[in-house]
Amino acid sequence: MNIIVCIKQVPGTTEVKIDPKTNTLIRSGIKAIINPFDTYAIEEAVRIREKAGGKVTVLTMGPPQADEALREAISLGADEAILLSDREFAGADTWATAYTINAAVRKISAYDLIICGRQTVDGDTGQVGPEMAQMLDIPLITYVSKIEDISLQMIRARRMIEDGYETLESPLPALLTVSKEINTPRLPSLRGIMKSKSAKITVWTLADLGIDKTMVGLAGSSTKVVKVFTPVRTHKAEVLQGDPTAQVDALIERLKGAGLA
Ligand SMILES: Cc1cc2nc3c(=O)[nH]c(=O)nc-3n(C[C@H](O)[C@H](O)[C@H](O)COP(=O)(O)OP(=O)(O)OC[C@H]3O[C@@H](n4cnc5c(N)ncnc54)[C@H](O)[C@@H]3O)c2cc1C
Repeated sequence: MNIIVCIKQVPGTTEVKIDPKTNTLIRSGIKAIINPFDTYAIEEAVRIREKAGGKVTVLTMGPPQADEALREAISLGADEAILLSDREFAGADTWATAYTINAAVRKISAYDLIICGRQTVDGDTGQVGPEMAQMLDIPLITYVSKIEDISLQMIRARRMIEDGYETLESPLPALLTVSKEINTPRLPSLRGIMKSKSAKITVWTLADLGIDKTMVGLAGSSTKVVKVFTPVRTHKAEVLQGDPTAQVDALIERLKGAGLA
């Protein structure tokens, strides 16, 4: 089974700072990591390959340093890695990102399954996977928490819904986005680390993908970030102390004072 896993390198912190002039993330001094949800996607792909055979290819669109994320994925068991990197790809919104990755998937052509994380911890939209499925015209199962059965022809998977889960069956090829309930990612093995150091990372540019430059990066993005800001905290929290009855009375007084009771 040939599996493609899409991964994104993200800042390894939730305390991201925004450059007020450029409205972009300040990345200097912040270690980049593989988007946590994508580590579950890698693990699931490696587990399927261990049972069914085949190949796991990891794919990322990003700057040259995203090479590190791909090497880490190889240390975790992926077989091959492709970096989509070109100055023209910069400034992509989710649509242009999905369009570029979709072009790479079409170039790979022989695949049975694509696995993405359910969302990233920086952009956080959860749009790239579903957009890719639409562009590739293949079935999509989001929020997958368990693969119950898989063969070269079909997959049966559980997807999380608000009050439980539902089980869906789909022909392959299909695209899944996975949640963290699906597995526990392994740590890299010593053999994997050694392999990742010497692994060849294939780099594809705009010219390699053969797509129009007006469809990628900032030019291909119909959404633009015009302002990014950290909300100013205007409310103060107060912890009521002491006897529970007195706390309830105090709370009711506060609510009355605020016109809420
Ligand atoms: C309205 C809007 C405007 C934006 N404008 C800009 C901009 O001007 N400049 C800028 O730098 N960024 C911009 N971004 C951010 C950029 O579009 C996103 O970081 C990128 O498109 C991925 O979206 P996401 O992080 O929400 O991924 P999600 O959709 O949350 O990711 C889901 C999954 O898709 C896969 N995936 C996501 N991104 C990649 C990738 N790069 N390579 C491989 N797999 C991937 C992963 O499996 C991931 O778990 C913008 C975002 C939005 C919503």
